[in-house]
Amino acid sequence: MSNLFYQGRGRKPVLEQARGVYMWDRDGKRYLDGSSGAMVCNIGHSDPNVLAAMRRQMDKATFGYRLHFETEASERLAAKLAGLCPPGLDRVFFVSGGSEAVESAMKLARQHALATGQGGRCKVISRTPSYHGCTLGALAVTGYATLTAPFEPMMRDMPKVPAPRAYLDDLNPNDPATGQYYADMLDAKIRSEGPDSVLAFILEPVGGASTGALVPPAGYMQRVREICDRHGVLLIMDEVMTGAGRTGRFFAAEHWVTRPDIIVMSKGLGAGYVPLGAMIADARLVEPVLDAGGFAHGFTYAGNPLACAAGLAVIDEIEAQGLCRNATVMGEKLLARLAGLMQKHEIIGDVRGKGLLCAFEFMADRDSKAPLPRRLNAYQRFVDIAYGQGLIVYSRRTRDGIEGDHILVCPPLIVNDTHLDEIVDGLETSLVHYTDEIA
Ligand code: PMP
Repeated sequence: MSNLFYQGRGRKPVLEQARGVYMWDRDGKRYLDGSSGAMVCNIGHSDPNVLAAMRRQMDKATFGYRLHFETEASERLAAKLAGLCPPGLDRVFFVSGGSEAVESAMKLARQHALATGQGGRCKVISRTPSYHGCTLGALAVTGYATLTAPFEPMMRDMPKVPAPRAYLDDLNPNDPATGQYYADMLDAKIRSEGPDSVLAFILEPVGGASTGALVPPAGYMQRVREICDRHGVLLIMDEVMTGAGRTGRFFAAEHWVTRPDIIVMSKGLGAGYVPLGAMIADARLVEPVLDAGGFAHGFTYAGNPLACAAGLAVIDEIEAQGLCRNATVMGEKLLARLAGLMQKHEIIGDVRGKGLLCAFEFMADRDSKAPLPRRLNAYQRFVDIAYGQGLIVYSRRTRDGIEGDHILVCPPLIVNDTHLDEIVDGLETSLVHYTDEIA
């Protein structure tokens, strides 16, 4: 009996060691980390340079409360992140995780509205499906029914628009008319809510746990930016999963040259070494808030020097090892290999992704796009089978949290061809096993 509890009652193997793309449990079983934890360990486990940077910082100071001290590590990391963002997006607020980063963005947006005489703006529009975190504020903008339903009376219901899912709607994702079609739903929603009541629109540039690596259709991002500008609505990009190189650019927003007003990031920044996240905002948003008396928000552990020193070292590794480039190259190979699996295995109905944020979706019938029956719990069962093979993958339900099963295949950005072979072999064996099981 353990004193720990997380989601369920099941006990997991005890982790003993992790190096690069591999992890070992206490019984000596080896796993290939095909999900980078939960899309966290972008540079792999136990990187010696990151560990050395953390040791150096530990020898100096591990904590300084942010209202008492700046630290060299937090200042340098803030400057580094500002340099990686589009010009103007240069005010950095540190947090310890993705949900905290999302909360911070929504509270900054609200305080900006108050400071600039737009106090009626309080609604944050988001998409269904989407995932933005588990704190009540972040959950309020999460479009995932099973997660939100129990808490609905406790949080303000925020308006939602459909996330573009061209593959389900039989639309061509490469046709700009498709992007326009979905973006115009945002326009209609802002108008029906009343533009003066809408504060911001938040979206994952490439869907993560929610839509399963779904890439926006052509023209969508640009059109969304235009619509937000037209209505004075702030655009918040949730790069918690996509940031830090996962999609082949440091920020996924770069693929569409769409300039958000606020970027939030976390997972790949701490990369499994430390809890760390950041909200990076346009100076034009931050200045009025500071003039009006300051940003009334903050978390005790935020921006601690150990976390920031690790974050800096992580970015140094991403740059020194060319990991954005590797994510692009290996991601293209992985997608091609997944498409190969789809040709052989009828149960795979769609394959998609960007960089090393890749996924496939199970379907009972490719033509009708019917999902597998819900009772099969395919998303959980497949992960267990792969786990048995020593391959870790990540899965969720795709269709609004209720049905549809996707498997995210998102190894650390340091993967090479040999690792890819091992991943694809593990998937293939697991697919055969699973198809036999449900036959
Ligand atoms: N936003 C996105 C896009 C995420 O994927 C996640 C975590 N899966 C979060 C926010 C919340 O991050 P955290 O679990 O670190 O609070």
